[in-house]
Parts: sequence; C-alpha cells; structure tokens
Amino acid sequence: MNKEHNKKIEISNKNAEISYQSIKFKNHENYVRGILYKLFYFDIPKDELEKIGKLKIANNKIIFENIQQQKADRKFDVILSKHITNLKNSLGNKNSMFIHENSGIPLIGNGSFGIVDRGSNIIEIKPITGCNLDCIYCSVDETKRAIDFLVEPNYLVQELEKIINIKESQDIEIHIGCQGEPLLYEPLEELIQLCSKIKKVKRISMDTNACMITKEKADSLIKAGLTQFNISIDTLNFDKAKQIASAPYNINKIKEITEYISKKSDLMVAPILVPKINDEDMIELIKWIKQLKDNSNYNIRIGIQKYLKYKFGKKPIKEETWDSFFETLKKYENEYKIKLIFDASDFKVVKDIMPKKPFKKNDIIKAEIVCQGRMDNEVIAVSENRCISVINSTKKTGLVKVKILRDKHNIFFGTEA
Ligand code: SF4
Repeated sequence: MNKEHNKKIEISNKNAEISYQSIKFKNHENYVRGILYKLFYFDIPKDELEKIGKLKIANNKIIFENIQQQKADRKFDVILSKHITNLKNSLGNKNSMFIHENSGIPLIGNGSFGIVDRGSNIIEIKPITGCNLDCIYCSVDETKRAIDFLVEPNYLVQELEKIINIKESQDIEIHIGCQGEPLLYEPLEELIQLCSKIKKVKRISMDTNACMITKEKADSLIKAGLTQFNISIDTLNFDKAKQIASAPYNINKIKEITEYISKKSDLMVAPILVPKINDEDMIELIKWIKQLKDNSNYNIRIGIQKYLKYKFGKKPIKEETWDSFFETLKKYENEYKIKLIFDASDFKVVKDIMPKKPFKKNDIIKAEIVCQGRMDNEVIAVSENRCISVINSTKKTGLVKVKILRDKHNIFFGTEA
C-alpha cells in the first residue's frame, strides 16, 4: 500500500494513531476489523495488536497508548501486511487480493485486473472484479471464480501513464471495463480524476449495469471526468429484467437514471441479445433510444451485442450464428432508421504502439508465484513485469517453470513445464 498517499500520521502527546484514507477500523470483541474501500475487509486479532500497546478504536482509527508514533507505525505495518493478505470481499465473502505498488504484482498480463492494451488508442483498465448481479448469460460467472482483485488507484494510474507515454496518439481513450461492476470500486471518482489529468487522455468511458448510479453519483462521475456511460440494459420489461439479472433489480429506476445521463454525457445502451429470451424486447429498446437521442445534445447510441458462449461463462442457450445476428441488426437498421452496426471508426479507434511482449507462445520461462489465480486451478506467477496465469500448477508458492500457451495482447496463460 502506498503509505505516502494513504496514511495520515497524527502525533499526539503520548499516544500513537493509526489511520488511513482507504481503511476504516472497527472494534469487535476479539479482533479489529479493517474495512478497505468500503467493500473489502480483513481481521486482526486483538492480542497481536496489544503487543504494540494498550489500544482503543475511535473514529475509524486505532489509538495506541504510551508509545511513540514511529515505533507504533513500524510494528503496525508488519501486522497489517500479514493480515491484509486474508482480505475478503463482503459481497459473498470471497477471498480477495489487494494489488498495490509494493504488492509485487504487475498490472499487465492478466485479463481480469490491471491494464489491457490491445494495440490501439483505447486502453482498458480493470480496477476491481466482482458484481452485484448474477445475469443469466454472464461471461464471467462469479460462481466459478475463486478470488476477487482490487487495485489501488494510484498504482493503476502510475502504470497506465507508462503505457500512455509510449503511444503516438494524442487522442487516448481510457475504458473502464471490469470483470464485474465498477461502481463497487469506492475510489472510482478518484481513479477517473487521476486518468483525466493525463495530457493525452481525451475520453473516459465505463461499462456499468447502473444499479448503483443515482443522479448525484452520475453528476459526480461526470465532474471527475467520465465522458461516456455504457449501460447494459437487456429489456424494459420489469419482470423479465429481474429474471435476467437474477438479483434485486429495478429496471424502472435504471431507465430513469439512464434518461438523466443521456442529457449530460455520451451514452451507449448495450443490451445482450439472447435468442428466445429477450430478442423481442429489442424493438422497444430501439424506440426508447431514438427518443433519448432526439432530446439530447450528446452522442446517444444503442449497441446491441451478440450473446457469446464462453468456456467459463453461463450458457443459458445455444449461441446464434454471426450471420443470423447481423441479419437481425440490418433488418432493424432499415426498419427503424438507426445505426446498429458499428466499426472501429465509430469509436475513434486507431492502431498504436503497445508494450513489448517479454515472451511469446511456446517459450519456457521461470516465474515466481505471487498469488491464487481467478480460477480454482490457477496461480498467478510473475516474470519480467508481467503476470502469467499458470493453469494446473502443482506448486502454490516459489519459482515455477512455465510453458507459455497464450501471449495475445500481453495477456499470458501458461502451464507448468
Ligand atoms: S452485470 Fe455484467 S458482470 Fe455483472 S453479472 Fe451481469 S453480465 Fe456479469
């Protein structure tokens, strides 16, 4: 964790106070709970803390009596680094990993957290995993994921700037596209604001299910620098929307907030067309977006997406062919006079330099295992400032010899060699 940024050292006469911007401490009978960025938590047994000194918890801080600040600080850092490794996501109590500057975990190499650069002027950032919904077609399917990830905003932006520096384009878009819901990330505005201060960054877009967006939140995200909301809405039918989301979900509220956003920012409503489930709802969505477009000065679009079957995603139905999908879009385009088929130029995408790949498919390398991977049978190993997801590793710690199986876009998968 970046102490300079997070830690506020307060020195009183005899007492030492431990407080962080990102962690709130709560008192429990035998332990102190640290709540990190509102959603994640870890517990520290009180008897370990009492070795530092007599303590009390007040105003989210730990106060140690009769000890110098520096000494308490040093001892607390050791305890914190031990227990923060047992981080949990309060959404489902899943084990979680906090990735920060001193975690030893690079931000390039994994498709579920950090930075993904596919060689253009659009760079994807993934500050968090995990979702409040459980959509019937979800390509992630949280039930199959062993661990969640949370990335410190400063670390993410620091690494992002290094990539932006090698780009030729002066027209960079940052796309917040998580394996999950970005509104669960407490420092979202801070992250957006930091990104928007980077000179070459001209646009910041974000995929969201919008469940947690209020008018105030939308205003605050726009103020921070967000320029486009991509909102997944699969139907305007109340019961069907709830059934698709498989979680508490109120489409009427989401419709209302989407209408509010359409007057303040660029907007892409992005339904997934799942044959036999919501295909007949597309017409109503198209008509609604046309109305929003007519009443807005912003770029308002609907981007109907094809349901794709992923190996570790949910599979509610057989996937339709691309031909049949495009046939439907063409039919709607003609009938409703609206653009539904987009290409790279519609999103201002241009090719650009991407970070070098330190290794390629079939290379055999040595890497250090740093943590559990997103799937049960996976560990994350590190070499040359890249993460490699190693499948079926017999080792859980230490050095591992890896054969690289995939290297596309600097996302690395491998197997023990
Ligand atoms: S909102 Fe997105 S990430 Fe969340 S469950 Fe639905 S499809 Fe999956």
